[in-house]
Amino acid sequence: MRTDSGRVIDLRSDTVTLPTEEMREAMRTAVLGDDVFGEDPTVNRLEEMAAAKLGKEAALLVPSGTMGNQVALLTHTRRGDEVIVEADAHIFHYESGAPAVVSGVMLRTLPGRDGLLTADQVEAAVRSPDVHTPPTGLVCLENTHNRGGGSVYPLATLQAISALALARGIPVHLDGARIFNAALATGVPATAIAACADSVMFCLSKALSAPVGSLLCGPAAFIARARRFRKMLGGGMRQAGVLAAPGIVALEKMVDRLEVDHANAKRLAEGLAGIPGVLLDPARVQTNIVIFRLAPPRTAALVVRALAADGVRALAIGPAAIRMVTHKDVEAADMDTAVAAVAQHLGADRPA
Ligand SMILES: *Cc1c(COP(=O)(O)O)cnc(C)c1O
Repeated sequence: MRTDSGRVIDLRSDTVTLPTEEMREAMRTAVLGDDVFGEDPTVNRLEEMAAAKLGKEAALLVPSGTMGNQVALLTHTRRGDEVIVEADAHIFHYESGAPAVVSGVMLRTLPGRDGLLTADQVEAAVRSPDVHTPPTGLVCLENTHNRGGGSVYPLATLQAISALALARGIPVHLDGARIFNAALATGVPATAIAACADSVMFCLSKALSAPVGSLLCGPAAFIARARRFRKMLGGGMRQAGVLAAPGIVALEKMVDRLEVDHANAKRLAEGLAGIPGVLLDPARVQTNIVIFRLAPPRTAALVVRALAADGVRALAIGPAAIRMVTHKDVEAADMDTAVAAVAQHLGADRPA
């Protein structure tokens, strides 16, 4: 079986989104210069826009979210520091072990609920100065939390962690790859979320649908140092305005439509939750990521393979855990198709 239209419904990630026609046109007509000399007006404009959107002094365009996070670690820490992260964090799981190699830091992983830490947990993990222990150099938070199922920090928790870190003289970096999803889901402005961290990384290349790019935002002096580290890691790009131009379209046109993705994720989660053998509480789905578990003896890898044969693509993110992410290139009816495909493979009747 394929989807009725024969089209593939790709729910593996919101990174699969293709640029809009307006983005392609913006790439074609972008005014360009050499950005390593600071002379690409389109990059400069994107960086100013990004900083303003998050209420920070400055921003730096980087090729990927991974580079944004790693440049942030390099800029904030010294070799041998300990960095507090949640145990399911992207920085810990999905960045190829970069913190050890690039910054020479240790990660202190704390288990969160749906990926979210409490201020008490962070407080208890901060080291007191002692010749035996690694100094706590940085706290990293992730909002929305990817492996936590797109979960969102309550603002009060972010503020409490920010206050205790400030009191201990420890900077906070926010992996805000999907910060605009977090803002939309909570009704808290992105600037208020960003205010709880010294630096924030967000991605243009996820549900904002730009082809490439992320931004690291923070104080001007921090970004100036980060700019040097970006160059060191090979992220100094020349006529990068061709990438910044669709990023500007993304910030201007693609932020408000994220609510469609959230509604589709809800629809998907509610449909999936009704299938016997699917373990999922749809009330926990707050943004555009849906993670569900399979009751034994089903395995995620086999179900994902069967779904792919039906034209529905998903990711196995654990032995019995499957992730589906909504984005602009899927629509409401696709959610019903995906639910029907899962139901069929779990042996249940197709929902009427
Ligand atoms: C996607 C993502 C990143 C960055 O990923 P890249 O593929 O390197 O752009 C970082 N953090 C989180 C939470 C993400 O989901």
